[in-house]
Amino acid sequence: MNDYILISNLNDFIFCPYSIYLHNVYMETDEELYHAKPQTKGKIAHKTIDEKTSTSKNEIQSLPVSSDELGIMGKIDVYKPNEKTLIERKYKIKQIYRGQLYQIWAQYFCMKEMGYEVENLAFYEISTNKTISLDLPTEIEKNELESFIDKFKMFDPSESIQINENKCRHCVYSNLCDKTSVENVYQ
Ligand code: SF4
Repeated sequence: MNDYILISNLNDFIFCPYSIYLHNVYMETDEELYHAKPQTKGKIAHKTIDEKTSTSKNEIQSLPVSSDELGIMGKIDVYKPNEKTLIERKYKIKQIYRGQLYQIWAQYFCMKEMGYEVENLAFYEISTNKTISLDLPTEIEKNELESFIDKFKMFDPSESIQINENKCRHCVYSNLCDKTSVENVYQ
């Protein structure tokens, strides 16, 4: 399992691959050192379902999942067995980013491999109480996810990366990052 990558890191890798490296370096330190306001609401949104698996007749929350085929592991938010629906909760959804789709697709493939029946995917926006239905990933989209996971696994933090200063300004690790001298907007 050591080489398995965390599903929750897929979206961050799109934002900046080096941020994953920094997260791993500093994960033992106090999160308040680098956690900025935009992350706080998201963390609170997940807090009630991140702590332990909860199972009822109609709902399974925070279930640990993994896939040997894809080499990934993580936790789902909510699965409704009666509706065969996998749901990812977000506090606010301005638009759906590719990385967010990769995360729910990854959860979906894990659950399928583990023998769960999943026929529907959805995002649930907590701030507006809205559910957004998603298509199941196609074979082409599965290949896209696999290529992305390969790229993630092969990333070498010593290689040079393209710096996007606007991203750095909104990156919680900018104070700790040796790739840029840009300061983030959360100071
Ligand atoms: S500060 Fe910039 S280069 Fe460094 S991890 Fe963040 S986004 Fe990447």
